[in-house]
Amino acid sequence: MTIRLRTHHLLCMLTYVGKGYSPAFVDNYEAIAARLSAGEEIVIVDGPDDICAPLLCGAQPHCLGDGVAERDRKAAEAVATLLAMPVMAGTRLTPSASLLLRLRRTFAEGDIRAACSGCEWSGLCDTVAAEGYAKARIAIATADVPTRRQGVLHRCCQT
Ligand code: SF4
Repeated sequence: MTIRLRTHHLLCMLTYVGKGYSPAFVDNYEAIAARLSAGEEIVIVDGPDDICAPLLCGAQPHCLGDGVAERDRKAAEAVATLLAMPVMAGTRLTPSASLLLRLRRTFAEGDIRAACSGCEWSGLCDTVAAEGYAKARIAIATADVPTRRQGVLHRCCQT
């Protein structure tokens, strides 16, 4: 199995702490967080993904809006630059300790956050990152953690 994610959710997954748009949204996200924590592979998709799914039955879901597509574009550009690889529909990524640590460190530094501009959750994500991801729901398997850990990286490894 793979987890279908649109590109800006590569950022959102870093700071997910069990909050969301509705109970159904959170329940679904919890299941995805557990799968990501177990290392299940991610495949990038265009448009609504597995996290969006519970919202799609509503009238005019924001997941289909131009603003969200622009958020995806900015996230894809930032993550591709960071990882020095194309990030587009069909790209496959394993949520390994090294990937999550690298993304979280760079997110905390603010260097991959252009996609977050105007997002209603930005304040929460700022706080989660500032607290070293201590409350983040996507955990990093201990056995997969690099031996060299410091500061913010060390604390997020404990989630
Ligand atoms: S600020 Fe918004 S777009 Fe950025 S990571 Fe948080 S929820 Fe996702």
